[in-house]
Amino acid sequence: MIYPEQREDAAKIAQHALETLARHGIPPNPTAFTLWYGAELDRPPGVKQSIEEISSGGDAVIETKWQDVYNRYFGFDGDLTQMQNASERIRKAVDRIRARLQRACGENGESTQTLADLSGRLGEGGELQSVIDGILSETDKILTRNGDLEKRLCSAGQEIGELQQRLTHVALEATTDALTGLANRKHFDTRLRMEAEAAEVTGQPLCLVLGDVDHFKAFNDRFGHNVGDQVLRSVAMVLKNNIKGQDLAARYGGEEFAILLPQTAVADAMTVAEQIRSSLARKELTDRRSGKCYGSVTISIGIALFIPKDGSVGLIHRADQALYAAKDSGRNRVVADDRPTASAA
Ligand code: GH3
Ligand code: MG
Ligand code: MG
Repeated sequence: MIYPEQREDAAKIAQHALETLARHGIPPNPTAFTLWYGAELDRPPGVKQSIEEISSGGDAVIETKWQDVYNRYFGFDGDLTQMQNASERIRKAVDRIRARLQRACGENGESTQTLADLSGRLGEGGELQSVIDGILSETDKILTRNGDLEKRLCSAGQEIGELQQRLTHVALEATTDALTGLANRKHFDTRLRMEAEAAEVTGQPLCLVLGDVDHFKAFNDRFGHNVGDQVLRSVAMVLKNNIKGQDLAARYGGEEFAILLPQTAVADAMTVAEQIRSSLARKELTDRRSGKCYGSVTISIGIALFIPKDGSVGLIHRADQALYAAKDSGRNRVVADDRPTASAA
């Protein structure tokens, strides 16, 4: 969520949120504070009303209730709510345009009839000046209506464009890991389910690559968490540079990464993993601003091939085992699960 308020405004809103929390006897922990701060501004839209609803029963607000509201608006479900809100607004805007077009068509139809009547009167020898005045006035009406319609269509079009952008942004945020820009775990899980189903139907090979940065705790301890974060971004970059097409690279957790390689045999997955391993090991990590060099980090990688009988849980388990084997045998190496057919038996 983006908070554009200036310092003074933000301080006032925060103060008010804290007072409300105190009144309800709720500890101002980050979750509760985020929720009541959002409610002050009704951001995301609807949160204010939801808070009012659960607060209306009296002074005490039950924790499970406000946790529910928090999850709805600020958890993954919250992203969905925002998407639903935006979709609903697009639907309403489109409805407004349709209604306007229908009305304009109806009104223009009436004008056409009036014009036909007027020309009929000419044929019957009606007075020329009054017929011409009638035609001019009716034409003016049509022009005004069409101009008005054009303006409304233009502004509705703009609104739809903005909403679509917001929807794309929210959808992207909901599926992206904020630190590395890779797919997040939730997105990875969804894609894994889809790819496993597809592989089951098509019989095409599907490989999972799991990587874990070696001795990363020691690296963090030595250079600090911020440098560690930069390094995770560099690892992500190496991953991105070595995959293509329908492959999906994700941050699986902390310093662990996962890559899904649909329609890829183990030997080809080995090649991709080996390229990632060697280019990371070769990469000199340097602070762009200070120019300070931090040496390099290495990654251990495990690979497994999807076997329908094993399901996606089995796939993750076998890739994890291969990763452990890579760690056990000295780190900075790639190990493939060599028992795919045995587990399938
Ligand atoms: P191993 O080779 O066995 O994997 O050793 P390791 O030190 O990498 O593994 P361990 O599980 O002991 O430590 C993982 C470290 O990764 C500890 C944690 O601080 C660090 N880490 C996890 N997530 C992040 C993050 O988002 N940023 C930073 N900077 N460090 C992280
Ligand atoms: Mg780890
Ligand atoms: Mg590690």
